[in-house]
Amino acid sequence: PATIAIIGRPNVGKSTLFNRLVGKRLALVDDTPGVTRDRRAGDARLGDLKFTIIDTAGLEEADQRSLEGRMRAQTEEAIADADAVLFVIDARAGVTPSDAHFANLLRRTDTPIILLANKAEGRAGESGLYEAFGLGFGDPIAMSAEHGEGLADLYDALLPIIDGVEAAEDTGAEAKTDVDVEDAEDEAPAGSRERPLRVTIVGRPNAGKSTLINRILGEDRLLTGPEAGITRDSISVDWVWNDRHVKLFDTAGIRRKARVQEKLEKLSVADALRAIKFAEVVIVTLDATIPFEKQDLQIIDLVAREGRALVIAINKWDLVEDRAAAMQVISDASERYLNQIRGVRIVTMSGLHGRGIDKLMEAAFSAYEVWNRRVSTGRLNRWLDGVLIHHPPPAVAGRRVKLRYLTQPKTRPPHFVVFCSRPETLPESYTRYLVNGLRETFDMPGTPIRLSYRKGD
Ligand code: GDP
Repeated sequence: PATIAIIGRPNVGKSTLFNRLVGKRLALVDDTPGVTRDRRAGDARLGDLKFTIIDTAGLEEADQRSLEGRMRAQTEEAIADADAVLFVIDARAGVTPSDAHFANLLRRTDTPIILLANKAEGRAGESGLYEAFGLGFGDPIAMSAEHGEGLADLYDALLPIIDGVEAAEDTGAEAKTDVDVEDAEDEAPAGSRERPLRVTIVGRPNAGKSTLINRILGEDRLLTGPEAGITRDSISVDWVWNDRHVKLFDTAGIRRKARVQEKLEKLSVADALRAIKFAEVVIVTLDATIPFEKQDLQIIDLVAREGRALVIAINKWDLVEDRAAAMQVISDASERYLNQIRGVRIVTMSGLHGRGIDKLMEAAFSAYEVWNRRVSTGRLNRWLDGVLIHHPPPAVAGRRVKLRYLTQPKTRPPHFVVFCSRPETLPESYTRYLVNGLRETFDMPGTPIRLSYRKGD
């Protein structure tokens, strides 16, 4: 069975929770810190979930060693044995320095952490809940071990972990699971029939968007099926590429032109923006004979600011005579202009001749994957430890900003949050340094990356 450890400072309600889950009143519980004696294990049950629960209450006892030292030893031991940790704080007391100390230890492990804000019955724990969010373990579960509240949420959080461990045990694999608590909701993968990959093709007039789409879909299909629920200026068409389902969003400009065969003189930013918002992946089409014009860069910037996954298609490659020279121009330009999406896939192709479309779609799916990537809090903070040694933030007016820890609360695109003192004094260049470091270390080429700061300890 899975092993789940309960961790937290004295008197937050660990033993009460242990008893609640084990169902027998084995442990002695009292409001006075220090009444529980041992590190105990019990057979726990929550709904249909069965697991071994470990209570680390023993560290409350008086001892010659420092409390900190004992907490560290106990915590590390429990974590090493556990498939997940229930990190308990007292919602009514809020986050104390001692909680923060535990949080610091827990942030450096890859074991999934479920944050429980206990004693939250009624409305007493509201401010504590808010503070608990700042610990960087995602949304805390509000619960009352005493009154049995919040157990359904705890069940939801434990389910994927325990399933993962049991599946691994069934296949004889390593028992420790990697399941990320926040990724628990299992969606159909993009590209399946239920969830086609949503792709938009944008580019300035004449770049070859219509030609590409027509080549993909066949002339007649471009005008098919405006869908309910989508604004009248946009249409989407479904396409199956190599067994993978793709929903292509088309802009008003393309449709109008296909219909009346007239050239649009200017790029409509509103149209492009609307098309981008529908998409998961945006294909930005450039004309190989005049790539990286000002308008092209504006469109790329728009896509990056909207935080979409993207691929750059260099179309009309058939017209290029000196391909080596053209490649050099492209690589210089991307070096110069594409810093915020460093490593983006640039695919040469010809819509007219139907060349490079497979490569383009492979790049689109791989951009989508990177866009969805999530890095565990443990890995992030081990990386941050190294950064703080080798490239700490510069001192401003004689004071150094303290970077405390790092989490990734969101994907699509990857969004990181640094908790630190005085974020407003960090120079822009340091943010760029962190973003580039994250991109390289955690293999996130070509995707827009968000980094924000939060004041906190
Ligand atoms: P859109 O405004 O981006 O939709 O561009 P169109 O698809 O209307 O293409 C503009 C012009 O470029 C047309 O004359 C196309 O025939 C031409 N074109 C588009 N793709 C290619 C290509 O891959 N190779 C060549 N040689 N011409 C292309």
